[in-house]
Amino acid sequence: MTESVFSKIIKREIPAEIVYEDEDFIAFLDINPINIGHTLLVPKKFSTDLFEMNTNDLEKVGLLLKILGESIKKSMGAKGLNIAMNNGKVAGQEVPHAHFHLVPRFENDGYKLWSGKPYKKDEMKEVANKIRGEI
Ligand code: AMP
Repeated sequence: MTESVFSKIIKREIPAEIVYEDEDFIAFLDINPINIGHTLLVPKKFSTDLFEMNTNDLEKVGLLLKILGESIKKSMGAKGLNIAMNNGKVAGQEVPHAHFHLVPRFENDGYKLWSGKPYKKDEMKEVANKIRGEI
């Protein structure tokens, strides 16, 4: 079985502040939070990223993100919440075990997610055509 630091948390080999657990998922506080209450939701069955997650976990994760997100938002008194997932090193993934970030947001908390850059002429249509062609 492939191991990660999150597998160790699942097996209670290293400590974590676990806030939720069921047979398929575990959620615990991020050790280096963007904001207080920043939580990671992790499928227990090992997969490197979203594209390796099994159908059962993929079906379940949407509802869990809603329930957990609502609880984090309420308990932290947050005004909003970002849900993010980094898939692949180039996307900023540091821990190679699929996980979703839930980050509570507060007025003027200083966290900037990303900045956009405009398409060149005709590029937007070409890009959309490429994606449509793969679906
Ligand atoms: P990512 O860059 O999407 O792979 O995010 C990995 C996250 O895991 C980072 O935000 C880390 O702070 C967090 N992290 C790493 N080790 C631990 C740990 N032992 N307990 C809690 N969070 C961790």
